[in-house]
Amino acid sequence: MPVSNREPADGQGLDRPTGSATDPGLLRVAVLGSTGSIGSSTLDVIAASGGRLVPHLLAAHSSIGLLLDQARQFRPRWVVVGDPDAAAAIGPGSLPDGTSLAVGPDALDDLVADPAVDRVVSAIVGAAGLRSTWAAIEAGKTVALANKETLVMAGPLVIRRAAETGSRIIPVDSEHSAIHQALACGSPGEVSRIVLTASGGPFRTRSRESLAEVTPAEALRHPTWSMGRKITVDSATMMNKALELVEARWLFGLPAAKLAVVVHPQSIVHSLVEFVDGAVIAQLSPPDMRLPIQYALFHPRRVPGPARRLDFATAMQFDFEPPDPERFPAVRLGHEAAARGGTAGAVLNAANEEAVRGFLAGALRFTDIAEVCGRLLDEHPFQDDPTLDDVRRLDAWARQEVGKWACV
Ligand code: NAD
Ligand code: MG
Repeated sequence: MPVSNREPADGQGLDRPTGSATDPGLLRVAVLGSTGSIGSSTLDVIAASGGRLVPHLLAAHSSIGLLLDQARQFRPRWVVVGDPDAAAAIGPGSLPDGTSLAVGPDALDDLVADPAVDRVVSAIVGAAGLRSTWAAIEAGKTVALANKETLVMAGPLVIRRAAETGSRIIPVDSEHSAIHQALACGSPGEVSRIVLTASGGPFRTRSRESLAEVTPAEALRHPTWSMGRKITVDSATMMNKALELVEARWLFGLPAAKLAVVVHPQSIVHSLVEFVDGAVIAQLSPPDMRLPIQYALFHPRRVPGPARRLDFATAMQFDFEPPDPERFPAVRLGHEAAARGGTAGAVLNAANEEAVRGFLAGALRFTDIAEVCGRLLDEHPFQDDPTLDDVRRLDAWARQEVGKWACV
């Protein structure tokens, strides 16, 4: 299994000078995508950490007002703005004393690799997150990975490089965090399968015919999770589960045949691992990303935190049902991309990202998203063992093809 869910033998990443066997000392954190949903939850975890997590770097694309508010509250050493035009709006004196501004992706790559950084939270949305996550892996960092697209696009390359540099990747995605926790109950050879739970999204009970008429406003109304726009639409199509199947395939080094999906509308059981003896181990908690974020930042330790708790004094019901392949064809595409490997994930990811953009802009119907993704997965010039350049080339190709679809 390429990703260890136990402390590495050499204690890599945990041996802060002030630390001890029970206290990791201070951990300096780089938050990539700090103004987003995961970024804001990460700052909640940092604020509640009693000073154990130190915000070292906050990076965002263009939400300057919020980024400056965060900088004034958390006083990081660095604020990094991806978009130079947006950065131009930051006047002298806008940042607190001790905080410096850097601009653009090259600067972000350099600062993420700085020896001062102990933990990198990868929470930029979409393919844009690959570059800085790769920089963190190159530098051998411990990465709390929310940006699943990194593994969907370039899973084998990322896992191989992380093994070479000693980088640890701890998942933040709630399902993968649950699996990471459940895997501690056995050895890799004892796992018979992994079952990812899915909320089913806002259209779990909608008729197949009515799905073509879904509006962006309806797709952006998720029943259990509050998230960024792109992943919220992905949850509505269940493409999120497709991407998560590919993510799990590389993260846990299991063949696609050992990965399954079950719909669980309450979003409390975050995923399950079945072992060879038939025992199924799950992780339960209310839908609150602060728990998996904190787990990834402190792993392998557990500390008290701000995440909501389950209330066993109140009656609860857990439902499980198989996903409907007719209404949610995206799930099959995830199984296919996980089984094929190579460039399939990169094409699926880019086609989906562009199709979601088209849907939100009114150029594509909701049901076109999975259809165009399936078509491009079939048609693309598949490569078994791509380089990063191949991945980027096919990402661009898929986006261009979706653009043509949107025009017809
Ligand atoms: P979001 O849209 O709320 O936030 C995205 C963040 O990325 C923002 O801070 C934005 O400024 C930044 N960003 C976007 N493009 C950038 C660029 N080119 N350069 C630098 N920064 C850029 O997204 P989110 O919901 O927080 O999701 C972030 C990632 O976490 C996604 O990959 C998503 O799949 C994953 N994830 C999110 C959740 C969730 O609950 N929101 C759960 C699991 C996984
Ligand atoms: Mg998830």
